[in-house]
Amino acid sequence: MSLAPALLDSLQAIFAADALSVEPGECAVYAYDNSRRESIPDAVVFPTTHEQVVALVAVCRTHRIALTARGRGTNTTGASIPLAGGIVASFERMNRILRIDTDNRYAVVEPGVLNADLQAALKPHGFFWAPDPTSAPFCSIGGNIACNAGGPRAVKYGATRDNVLALRAVNGCGEEFRCGKPTTKGATGYDLVRLLIGSEGTLAVITEATLKLTPLASDKRTLRATYADIAAATSAVARIMAQPVTPCALEFMDDEALRLARNHAGES
Ligand SMILES: Cc1cc2nc3c(=O)[nH]c(=O)nc-3n(C[C@H](O)[C@H](O)[C@H](O)COP(=O)(O)OP(=O)(O)OC[C@H]3O[C@@H](n4cnc5c(N)ncnc54)[C@H](O)[C@@H]3O)c2cc1C
Repeated sequence: MSLAPALLDSLQAIFAADALSVEPGECAVYAYDNSRRESIPDAVVFPTTHEQVVALVAVCRTHRIALTARGRGTNTTGASIPLAGGIVASFERMNRILRIDTDNRYAVVEPGVLNADLQAALKPHGFFWAPDPTSAPFCSIGGNIACNAGGPRAVKYGATRDNVLALRAVNGCGEEFRCGKPTTKGATGYDLVRLLIGSEGTLAVITEATLKLTPLASDKRTLRATYADIAAATSAVARIMAQPVTPCALEFMDDEALRLARNHAGES
Protein backbone atom coordinates (compact mmCIF):
# COMPACT_ATOMS: atom_id res chain seq x y z
CA MET A 1 0.00 0.00 0.00
CA SER A 2 1.48 3.40 -0.90
CA LEU A 3 1.36 6.37 1.46
CA ALA A 4 -1.26 9.09 1.04
CA PRO A 5 0.37 12.15 -0.61
CA ALA A 6 -0.43 14.39 2.38
CA LEU A 7 1.24 11.90 4.74
CA LEU A 8 4.29 11.64 2.51
CA ASP A 9 4.52 15.45 2.39
CA SER A 10 4.42 15.59 6.19
CA LEU A 11 7.15 12.96 6.50
CA GLN A 12 9.32 14.79 3.96
CA ALA A 13 8.99 17.92 6.08
CA ILE A 14 10.57 16.03 9.01
CA PHE A 15 13.11 13.78 7.30
CA ALA A 16 15.72 14.50 4.64
CA ALA A 17 15.57 12.37 1.49
CA ASP A 18 18.28 10.01 2.77
CA ALA A 19 16.39 9.42 6.03
CA LEU A 20 13.07 8.36 4.47
CA SER A 21 12.36 5.50 2.12
CA VAL A 22 9.19 4.26 0.45
CA GLU A 23 11.11 2.13 -2.03
CA PRO A 24 9.73 -1.45 -1.67
CA GLY A 25 13.19 -3.06 -1.88
CA GLU A 26 14.49 -0.93 1.00
CA CYS A 27 11.27 -1.33 2.98
CA ALA A 28 11.59 -5.13 2.64
CA VAL A 29 14.81 -4.97 4.71
CA TYR A 30 12.67 -3.77 7.62
CA ALA A 31 9.92 -6.35 7.12
CA TYR A 32 11.39 -9.07 9.31
CA ASP A 33 13.20 -9.71 12.57
CA ASN A 34 14.55 -12.85 14.21
CA SER A 35 11.05 -14.40 14.41
CA ARG A 36 9.48 -16.14 11.43
CA ARG A 37 7.07 -13.29 10.83
CA GLU A 38 7.26 -10.85 7.94
CA SER A 39 5.29 -7.77 6.88
CA ILE A 40 6.54 -4.96 4.65
CA PRO A 41 6.08 -1.40 5.95
CA ASP A 42 4.86 1.38 3.65
CA ALA A 43 7.79 3.57 4.65
CA VAL A 44 10.95 3.49 6.76
CA VAL A 45 12.38 6.53 8.51
CA PHE A 46 15.71 6.98 10.28
CA PRO A 47 15.39 9.56 13.08
CA THR A 48 18.53 11.19 14.43
CA THR A 49 16.94 13.53 16.99
CA HIS A 50 14.34 13.45 19.73
CA GLU A 51 12.49 16.32 18.03
CA GLN A 52 12.09 14.29 14.84
CA VAL A 53 10.51 11.47 16.85
CA VAL A 54 8.04 13.89 18.49
CA ALA A 55 7.05 15.24 15.07
CA LEU A 56 6.87 11.72 13.58
CA VAL A 57 4.48 10.41 16.25
CA ALA A 58 2.26 13.48 15.82
CA VAL A 59 2.08 12.92 12.05
CA CYS A 60 1.28 9.21 12.47
CA ARG A 61 -1.48 10.10 14.93
CA THR A 62 -2.96 12.73 12.64
CA HIS A 63 -3.02 10.28 9.73
CA ARG A 64 -4.07 7.30 11.90
CA ILE A 65 -1.21 5.19 10.62
CA ALA A 66 0.73 2.53 12.54
CA LEU A 67 4.25 3.31 13.75
CA THR A 68 6.64 0.50 14.70
CA ALA A 69 9.92 1.24 16.49
CA ARG A 70 12.89 -0.87 15.47
CA GLY A 71 16.34 -1.31 16.96
CA ARG A 72 18.29 -3.97 15.05
CA GLY A 73 15.53 -6.56 14.60
CA THR A 74 17.20 -9.30 16.66
CA ASN A 75 14.20 -10.04 18.90
CA THR A 76 12.71 -13.47 18.41
CA THR A 77 9.03 -12.62 19.02
CA GLY A 78 8.08 -10.53 15.97
CA ALA A 79 7.97 -7.42 18.18
CA SER A 80 9.51 -5.16 15.54
CA ILE A 81 7.40 -6.43 12.61
CA PRO A 82 5.01 -3.80 11.19
CA LEU A 83 2.06 -6.18 11.12
CA ALA A 84 -0.38 -3.38 10.22
CA GLY A 85 1.98 -1.92 7.62
CA GLY A 86 2.53 1.81 8.15
CA ILE A 87 5.87 3.29 9.13
CA VAL A 88 8.93 1.71 10.69
CA ALA A 89 11.18 4.06 12.67
CA SER A 90 14.62 2.50 12.66
CA PHE A 91 16.85 3.90 15.40
CA GLU A 92 20.11 2.70 13.89
CA ARG A 93 21.31 6.29 13.24
CA MET A 94 20.34 7.63 16.68
CA ASN A 95 23.38 5.99 18.18
CA ARG A 96 25.36 8.45 20.26
CA ILE A 97 26.67 7.86 23.76
CA LEU A 98 25.81 11.26 25.22
CA ARG A 99 27.53 11.05 28.61
CA ILE A 100 29.50 8.69 30.81
CA ASP A 101 29.39 9.92 34.41
CA THR A 102 31.65 7.64 36.45
CA ASP A 103 31.29 9.70 39.65
CA ASN A 104 27.56 9.03 39.67
CA ARG A 105 27.82 5.64 37.89
CA TYR A 106 25.53 6.27 34.97
CA ALA A 107 25.65 6.68 31.19
CA VAL A 108 23.19 8.57 28.99
CA VAL A 109 22.67 7.06 25.54
CA GLU A 110 20.50 7.32 22.48
CA PRO A 111 18.41 4.20 21.77
CA GLY A 112 20.33 3.05 18.70
CA VAL A 113 23.65 2.50 20.51
CA LEU A 114 24.68 -1.14 20.19
CA ASN A 115 25.02 -3.00 23.49
CA ALA A 116 28.58 -4.13 22.66
CA ASP A 117 29.63 -0.59 21.62
CA LEU A 118 28.48 0.73 24.98
CA GLN A 119 30.37 -2.01 26.85
CA ALA A 120 33.53 -1.16 24.85
CA ALA A 121 33.16 2.54 25.68
CA LEU A 122 32.64 1.81 29.39
CA LYS A 123 35.52 -0.65 29.81
CA PRO A 124 38.36 1.93 29.96
CA HIS A 125 36.41 3.65 32.77
CA GLY A 126 36.27 0.37 34.74
CA PHE A 127 32.49 -0.06 34.36
CA PHE A 128 29.97 -2.14 32.42
CA TRP A 129 26.22 -2.15 31.80
CA ALA A 130 24.88 -5.41 33.22
CA PRO A 131 22.35 -6.60 30.57
CA ASP A 132 24.26 -8.95 28.25
CA PRO A 133 22.00 -10.65 25.70
CA THR A 134 24.06 -12.99 23.54
CA SER A 135 23.13 -10.72 20.63
CA ALA A 136 25.14 -7.84 22.21
CA PRO A 137 27.31 -7.07 19.13
CA PHE A 138 24.22 -6.41 17.01
CA CYS A 139 21.34 -5.42 19.29
CA SER A 140 20.49 -1.89 20.42
CA ILE A 141 19.99 -0.45 23.90
CA GLY A 142 16.50 0.71 22.84
CA GLY A 143 15.64 -2.87 21.84
CA ASN A 144 17.13 -4.22 25.08
CA ILE A 145 14.97 -1.81 27.07
CA ALA A 146 11.79 -2.51 25.10
CA CYS A 147 12.35 -6.29 25.47
CA ASN A 148 13.66 -6.17 29.07
CA ALA A 149 16.60 -8.20 27.80
CA GLY A 150 18.75 -10.22 30.16
CA GLY A 151 21.55 -12.71 29.63
CA PRO A 152 23.78 -14.94 31.77
CA ARG A 153 24.64 -12.02 34.10
CA ALA A 154 20.97 -11.50 35.06
CA VAL A 155 21.41 -14.09 37.82
CA LYS A 156 23.53 -11.59 39.77
CA TYR A 157 22.65 -8.16 38.38
CA GLY A 158 19.04 -8.58 37.21
CA ALA A 159 17.73 -7.89 33.71
CA THR A 160 17.37 -4.55 31.91
CA ARG A 161 14.57 -3.42 34.23
CA ASP A 162 17.04 -3.46 37.15
CA ASN A 163 19.67 -1.45 35.28
CA VAL A 164 17.89 1.61 33.88
CA LEU A 165 17.55 4.77 35.96
CA ALA A 166 15.64 7.16 33.70
CA LEU A 167 14.08 7.46 30.24
CA ARG A 168 13.09 10.16 27.80
CA ALA A 169 10.22 9.09 25.55
CA VAL A 170 7.30 10.11 23.35
CA ASN A 171 3.84 8.68 23.99
CA GLY A 172 1.21 7.81 21.36
CA CYS A 173 -0.26 11.32 21.49
CA GLY A 174 3.10 12.74 20.44
CA GLU A 175 3.75 14.10 23.95
CA GLU A 176 7.31 13.93 25.19
CA PHE A 177 8.10 13.08 28.78
CA ARG A 178 10.92 12.11 31.10
CA CYS A 179 10.64 9.56 33.89
CA GLY A 180 13.01 8.24 36.54
CA LYS A 181 16.06 9.87 38.11
CA PRO A 182 19.81 9.49 37.58
CA THR A 183 20.32 8.51 41.21
CA THR A 184 20.41 5.23 43.11
CA LYS A 185 17.43 6.31 45.17
CA GLY A 186 14.38 7.70 43.42
CA ALA A 187 11.35 7.12 45.61
CA THR A 188 8.87 9.76 44.45
CA GLY A 189 6.06 9.25 41.97
CA TYR A 190 4.92 6.32 39.88
CA ASP A 191 7.62 4.05 38.49
CA LEU A 192 7.02 4.66 34.79
CA VAL A 193 10.55 3.53 33.94
CA ARG A 194 9.81 -0.05 34.98
CA LEU A 195 6.47 0.09 33.18
CA LEU A 196 8.04 1.18 29.89
CA ILE A 197 10.78 -1.43 30.11
CA GLY A 198 9.49 -4.60 28.49
CA SER A 199 6.55 -2.83 26.81
CA GLU A 200 7.95 -3.63 23.34
CA GLY A 201 7.28 -0.18 21.93
CA THR A 202 3.54 -0.33 22.67
CA LEU A 203 3.42 2.47 25.28
CA ALA A 204 5.99 4.98 24.05
CA VAL A 205 8.98 5.46 21.82
CA ILE A 206 12.20 5.77 23.81
CA THR A 207 14.58 8.50 22.65
CA GLU A 208 17.14 8.56 25.49
CA ALA A 209 18.09 6.30 28.38
CA THR A 210 20.07 6.85 31.56
CA LEU A 211 21.69 3.54 32.44
CA LYS A 212 22.99 2.31 35.78
CA LEU A 213 26.65 1.32 35.58
CA THR A 214 28.37 -1.40 37.58
CA PRO A 215 32.11 -1.54 38.37
CA LEU A 216 34.03 -4.25 36.51
CA ALA A 217 35.32 -7.04 38.73
CA SER A 218 39.07 -6.86 39.29
CA ASP A 219 39.39 -10.55 38.43
CA LYS A 220 37.24 -13.43 37.19
CA ARG A 221 37.47 -17.20 37.24
CA THR A 222 35.39 -19.68 35.29
CA LEU A 223 34.25 -22.97 36.81
CA ARG A 224 32.68 -25.88 34.97
CA ALA A 225 30.82 -28.46 37.02
CA THR A 226 29.13 -31.64 35.79
CA TYR A 227 26.02 -32.98 37.53
CA ALA A 228 24.34 -36.38 37.36
CA ASP A 229 20.93 -34.91 36.58
CA ILE A 230 18.95 -31.66 36.40
CA ALA A 231 17.69 -31.96 39.98
CA ALA A 232 21.26 -32.14 41.31
CA ALA A 233 22.30 -29.14 39.17
CA THR A 234 19.37 -26.97 40.25
CA SER A 235 19.84 -27.73 43.92
CA ALA A 236 23.54 -26.80 43.57
CA VAL A 237 22.53 -23.49 41.96
CA ALA A 238 20.14 -22.79 44.86
CA ARG A 239 22.95 -23.40 47.37
CA ILE A 240 25.47 -21.31 45.38
CA MET A 241 23.08 -18.35 45.05
CA ALA A 242 22.46 -18.40 48.82
CA GLN A 243 26.15 -17.59 49.49
CA PRO A 244 27.31 -14.03 50.33
CA VAL A 245 29.49 -13.96 47.19
CA THR A 246 27.68 -15.17 44.08
CA PRO A 247 28.82 -15.91 40.50
CA CYS A 248 28.54 -13.02 38.04
CA ALA A 249 26.97 -15.36 35.45
CA LEU A 250 25.55 -18.86 35.25
CA GLU A 251 24.95 -20.92 32.13
CA PHE A 252 23.22 -24.30 32.16
CA MET A 253 23.81 -26.79 29.35
CA ASP A 254 21.93 -30.08 29.10
CA ASP A 255 22.88 -33.15 27.00
CA GLU A 256 21.24 -31.76 23.89
CA ALA A 257 22.97 -28.36 24.16
CA LEU A 258 26.34 -30.12 24.65
CA ARG A 259 25.69 -32.35 21.64
CA LEU A 260 24.86 -29.32 19.44
CA ALA A 261 27.94 -27.42 20.66
CA ARG A 262 30.19 -30.43 20.00
CA ASN A 263 28.71 -30.91 16.52
CA HIS A 264 29.35 -27.26 15.77
CA ALA A 265 32.76 -26.68 17.31
CA GLY A 266 34.16 -30.15 18.01
CA GLU A 267 35.63 -31.35 21.32
CA SER A 268 37.84 -28.84 23.09
C1 LIG B 1 21.59 -14.59 18.90
C2 LIG B 1 20.61 -13.92 19.86
C3 LIG B 1 20.81 -14.07 21.21
C4 LIG B 1 19.93 -13.47 22.11
N1 LIG B 1 20.18 -13.63 23.44
C5 LIG B 1 19.35 -13.08 24.34
C6 LIG B 1 19.61 -13.25 25.73
O1 LIG B 1 20.58 -13.88 26.14
N2 LIG B 1 18.74 -12.65 26.60
C7 LIG B 1 17.65 -11.93 26.17
O2 LIG B 1 16.91 -11.39 26.99
N3 LIG B 1 17.40 -11.76 24.87
C8 LIG B 1 18.21 -12.32 23.94
N4 LIG B 1 17.96 -12.15 22.61
C9 LIG B 1 16.81 -11.34 22.23
C10 LIG B 1 17.11 -9.91 22.64
O3 LIG B 1 16.08 -9.44 23.48
C11 LIG B 1 17.25 -9.02 21.50
O4 LIG B 1 18.37 -9.46 20.72
C12 LIG B 1 17.45 -7.54 21.83
O5 LIG B 1 17.09 -7.13 23.12
C13 LIG B 1 16.61 -6.75 20.84
O6 LIG B 1 17.31 -5.60 20.46
P1 LIG B 1 17.13 -5.02 19.00
O7 LIG B 1 17.92 -3.76 18.94
O8 LIG B 1 17.43 -6.02 17.97
O9 LIG B 1 15.58 -4.66 19.01
P2 LIG B 1 14.45 -5.06 17.96
O10 LIG B 1 14.41 -6.52 17.78
O11 LIG B 1 14.59 -4.22 16.75
O12 LIG B 1 13.15 -4.56 18.74
C14 LIG B 1 12.75 -5.21 19.91
C15 LIG B 1 11.56 -4.45 20.49
O13 LIG B 1 12.01 -3.18 20.90
C16 LIG B 1 11.16 -2.16 20.37
N5 LIG B 1 12.00 -0.97 20.24
C17 LIG B 1 13.20 -0.86 19.62
N6 LIG B 1 13.66 0.39 19.75
C18 LIG B 1 12.74 1.07 20.47
C19 LIG B 1 12.64 2.41 20.92
N7 LIG B 1 13.58 3.31 20.69
N8 LIG B 1 11.53 2.78 21.62
C20 LIG B 1 10.55 1.89 21.88
N9 LIG B 1 10.59 0.61 21.48
C21 LIG B 1 11.67 0.21 20.78
C22 LIG B 1 10.64 -2.74 19.08
O14 LIG B 1 9.44 -2.14 18.66
C23 LIG B 1 10.43 -4.19 19.50
O15 LIG B 1 9.20 -4.28 20.19
C24 LIG B 1 18.80 -12.72 21.66
C25 LIG B 1 18.60 -12.59 20.29
C26 LIG B 1 19.49 -13.17 19.40
C27 LIG B 1 19.26 -13.01 17.93
